[in-house]
Amino acid sequence: MNKQKYLIAANWKQNGDVKSATKLINDIVKLYKKNQPKCDVLILPPAIYLSTILSRINYYKIPLKKISLGIQNISPFIEGAFTGELSANMSKDFKCSHALIGHSERRHVFFEDDKTIASKTRLSLESNMITILCVGETITEYNKNLTKKVIFRQLKSALSKSLELFKSDHSKVIIAYEPVWAIGTGKSASLDDIVNIHAYIYKTLNKLLGTDHHMIKILYGGSVNNNNASSILKLPNVNGALVGGASLNSKKFIDICSSI
Ligand code: PEP
Repeated sequence: MNKQKYLIAANWKQNGDVKSATKLINDIVKLYKKNQPKCDVLILPPAIYLSTILSRINYYKIPLKKISLGIQNISPFIEGAFTGELSANMSKDFKCSHALIGHSERRHVFFEDDKTIASKTRLSLESNMITILCVGETITEYNKNLTKKVIFRQLKSALSKSLELFKSDHSKVIIAYEPVWAIGTGKSASLDDIVNIHAYIYKTLNKLLGTDHHMIKILYGGSVNNNNASSILKLPNVNGALVGGASLNSKKFIDICSSI
């Protein structure tokens, strides 16, 4: 069973403005200082507010190892004429240590395919960022009992361009299991399904990489809230959570962090 230091990540998505983002990070930091949760915390704000969020974390003198920063998406290209895109390296100017790759909204709303996600994974690892690779099935795939097949394909193809980088440093990859039908719906996966799929992800990583990779973190994401967090986080092979909606509420988010 894999139990290491937990990571609770806040995916703010495309929400808020500079005023509300500043208030949210101030409130999160204050509650974090008060509650002293045992987990590591990661904030993934809209990229345009990274500088603001970084300056607030610095103002409260919280080490970036404890509350770290990440980018929600990166360009599949290193640099150049790619209007609107941001690179992993650019995010490092704002002390981002993590990059979220292959979130279901990127896959299903912006039609990112497996090949694009493989390129992003490679670039993120080459930039020495901790890469959170999201995988998960749609409701149709779930109902057809295709979850494992989909996850195998997503893992295999996302890591196909990065196997040697991945093998050389396991700490640089985190997998987030996020069933698409559980994201933002208020209906998280059952505890049995989470246990089953997290174990399957380990088995698959071992198969793809050829050795035992029990030090890789696997997060669960999909309607995690302050009521269900403690039972989800207790499960074997669950090393944290990726939290969307509930991370926009400082109290709920720190309650999730404190439920470990
Ligand atoms: C997410 O965006 O990754 C997510 C899990 O969202 P929510 O917690 O709102 O389901």
